[in-house]
Amino acid sequence: MSGRVLTKAGAVLGLGLLLSVPGLCLGKPPGRTPVATTPHFAFHSDFDTNLNDALISAGLAKKKIQPALFRSGPETACFEKLPSSHRHGWEGAVAYYAEIVSPKDAFAREQYLVRAQLAGFDGELKKDEDQQYVAIAAGFRAAAAPAYRACRWAAQDAANRAWIEDLKTRLGPTEQRIAGRLEQLYANAWDTLPIDVDVVQTVSWSGANSVSFDPKGGHLLISVENPSVAAVEVVFHEASHLLMLRAAPLRKALDGAAKAANWRLPGDLWHVVLFYTTGEAIRAILEEGGKPAYEPMLHGIFARGDWVGYRSALESEWRPYVEGKKTLDEAAAGLIESLRKARPQ
Ligand SMILES: [Zn+2]
Repeated sequence: MSGRVLTKAGAVLGLGLLLSVPGLCLGKPPGRTPVATTPHFAFHSDFDTNLNDALISAGLAKKKIQPALFRSGPETACFEKLPSSHRHGWEGAVAYYAEIVSPKDAFAREQYLVRAQLAGFDGELKKDEDQQYVAIAAGFRAAAAPAYRACRWAAQDAANRAWIEDLKTRLGPTEQRIAGRLEQLYANAWDTLPIDVDVVQTVSWSGANSVSFDPKGGHLLISVENPSVAAVEVVFHEASHLLMLRAAPLRKALDGAAKAANWRLPGDLWHVVLFYTTGEAIRAILEEGGKPAYEPMLHGIFARGDWVGYRSALESEWRPYVEGKKTLDEAAAGLIESLRKARPQ
């Protein structure tokens, strides 16, 4: 597994904004037809979502004075032949994104609102200024669209579809069993299936993330740069976030055990537990019947020196839960006790 992937997957963001918004709901925009659907996932290769992703990356590159789409790479020659109206449309959009959208966190308002609109969750746009903001961003995307369509979209769409097709094949025989095992381990169930997954080039530095547009279900963004071998874990890792929201049974078990031990829960522990639980559950199923060994993403994160302080406690106290040898409460209490001894506060 490459360092890039470990960097991206290892830093997968937790759920950011959890907004419950009845109210205006315009439904999903036309063209949101998935390119593939499995029992748990509806995979999209959506033009506007990919254009948005490309503009976020190009805006960031502009800020950092780094190579960017249409300024370097194979698409440059195509771009340079476009009419100046198309080229300036793209450049204007990149300039807007560089100032307004790209520098913000993936869950900050500027990116979150656009994502919600593109995914068809218009109910998240609660205020007039939200509607105005996404309309401005959409206007810039419209200006950038001819260049993106002419010089990039066909290749991006093909890459997205190939990645999805490969993942669909990998999921095939194991999807239902992995999903069932995860619902059991998280003592929770996905409330809306299939979960929408938009596949794009970059996503962000994390390579994948998830949000919950309550009450309509989750939305995952996944980068095609995640290698195929890790794709099953990447998509189920993000889906696991939906089973481990703040009030979910695993979060409550960890919170309760920490409270009982009068120990302050480290803010990142739940995410490490998520990585471990989903990664190990998937490893066990993928390796059944003597199939080749699978190395969960967390191993790579440990290998680069992150979260290693949690490793022995997870192996000794949490593994028995994943293997069905301890109850959730026993494992949570054991994990907290082991960490408390190792890290007195
Ligand atoms: Zn995560």
